[in-house]
Amino acid sequence: MKLPLCLLLVFAPAAAAEVLTVVDIAHADTAQVEQLKRIPGSDWWLEMGLQLAVIGPRDALREAAGTLGVLASFDDVDPAHLMLRARGCSEHAPEAGRLLAKGGRWELREVSAGEMQSLLLTDDHAWQPVKPNTSMARQYRLEPQRSTQAADPGVQQVVDRIDSARWFADVQTLAGWDRSSYGTTSLDAARDWIATQFSALGLSDGLQAFSMNGASGGTITRYNVSGAWIGSSLPDRWLIVGAHYDSRNATLSSTVNAPGAEDNASGCAGVIELARALLPSQPSRSILFVCYAGEEQGLKGSAAHVQSLIQASQRSSVDAVVIMDMIGYSADANLEALYESSASYNPYLLQFGAAAATYVPQLAVVTSTNPFGSDHVPYINAGVRTALAIENDWNDYPHYHRSTDTPANIGPNVQPMGAAILKTNAAVIAEIAGLDHAADPVFASGFEGR
Ligand SMILES: [Zn+2]
Repeated sequence: MKLPLCLLLVFAPAAAAEVLTVVDIAHADTAQVEQLKRIPGSDWWLEMGLQLAVIGPRDALREAAGTLGVLASFDDVDPAHLMLRARGCSEHAPEAGRLLAKGGRWELREVSAGEMQSLLLTDDHAWQPVKPNTSMARQYRLEPQRSTQAADPGVQQVVDRIDSARWFADVQTLAGWDRSSYGTTSLDAARDWIATQFSALGLSDGLQAFSMNGASGGTITRYNVSGAWIGSSLPDRWLIVGAHYDSRNATLSSTVNAPGAEDNASGCAGVIELARALLPSQPSRSILFVCYAGEEQGLKGSAAHVQSLIQASQRSSVDAVVIMDMIGYSADANLEALYESSASYNPYLLQFGAAAATYVPQLAVVTSTNPFGSDHVPYINAGVRTALAIENDWNDYPHYHRSTDTPANIGPNVQPMGAAILKTNAAVIAEIAGLDHAADPVFASGFEGR
C-alpha cells in the first residue's frame, strides 16, 4: 500500500525503537543504582521508588542488574511516547497505552502519538509528560542528602505513646458508619464522634461548613471537623494534621456499603491518635487536628479549609501540614511508606525519612515529588509546606474503593503498618512543633491516663 506523503512525514522521523528495562532496586545500594543509570549506550532513566526504568542495551543492563533482578523488558519503545499516569484513577482518567513500570503514585506508560495529544489536552493532571533522568520517587536510604540523627528524648516520648491497638479500635468504630459525603445521617454520626474524641482530649472542637454539588444536582452542605491545640509558647504558629473521614464504594454516588476502613478511617483515626501522643508533651506551636469530608468528590473539604485560611489571612501562619490517607495496609511484612509533596518541599519529605531512620528503623520510606489526588494538593497549591503520608502498597490493596474495605480485610500487617507511619509522623510533628514539657517525666506521666 502506498502511503500518502503527509503520513510519511508524520511517522518517518521517529527514532529507532529501543529496549526499556525495568530493574527491581528495592534492595539495591547507591553504587548499583548509579551504575545502572550510567550504562554505556544509554541516556534515559527514570527512578520510580522501588523500580528503575532504563532505556538502553538489553544485555548490558541485564548484566549490570546482576542479582537485583529484571522485572520486565519491553522491545520497540519510543522514548518520545512515554507518559506518566496517576495510579488508582480508573474512575476519572482514561486508561491508554501499555504499562511499563510503576512507582509512587504513578505508572509509566507508552501511548501513541494521537493518544498523547488528546491526553495532554484533557488537562486533569492525571496524565503528565515524563522528565527523563530524574527521580520521581526515591527510597530514602538511596538519598544522597540522607542524614542520621540521635534520638531526642522528648521526641522519643511522643513516639512511644503511639498505641496501635487503640488506633485500630478507632478504625473499627469509624468503619461502622457508611461515610459517603452524599449521605447524611451516618456521615454526621461519624463527624460527631470525631468531635467528641477531640473534646475528650481537651481540644476546642469546631465545625467548618462548606458547599458541594449533590449526587443528583443541587448544592449540599458538609462539614470539616477539627480540634485545636493552642501552643503555650508559640500560639500564633500553626501545624495542621489532617485526613478525610468520608469514604466511598465502587459507585461514588451510592450512600451505603462504604465502610472505608483503610480509605480512610485509618488516616482519620491516625489524626486522633497523634493528638493523644502529642498533647501530654505540650507542643509549643498550635496544632489543628482536622478531618475533612468531600475528599472522594474532589478534595472539597480540604480545599474549603485552604480557602478559609486565605480569607482569614492565616495562610502564612501555617508552618507545616501532614495529611494521612490510607496508612494501614501492607501487602507483606516489609513496611514501606510513601511521603509525597512538590519538589520545593523535598527537604520536608527528607525529614520524614530521617525521622523513620531514627525512631522507626523497620519502616522503609519512599519520597515522591509528584503530588496527586489527596488533601495535600490544595495546601501545596496555596504555597503551604505539606506532605502526604500513604502506605507504599496502597495500589495493591484489593478492597480499595469497595464495600469490602472493612477493618478485617486490611489484613494481618495493619497494626505494625499503622504504628510505623504514626510514629514517624509523631516524630516530625514533635520536632517542628517543639515540646514545652519534653523533658519533664512527671508532667508527662501525669497525662498518660487521659
Ligand atoms: Zn482516601
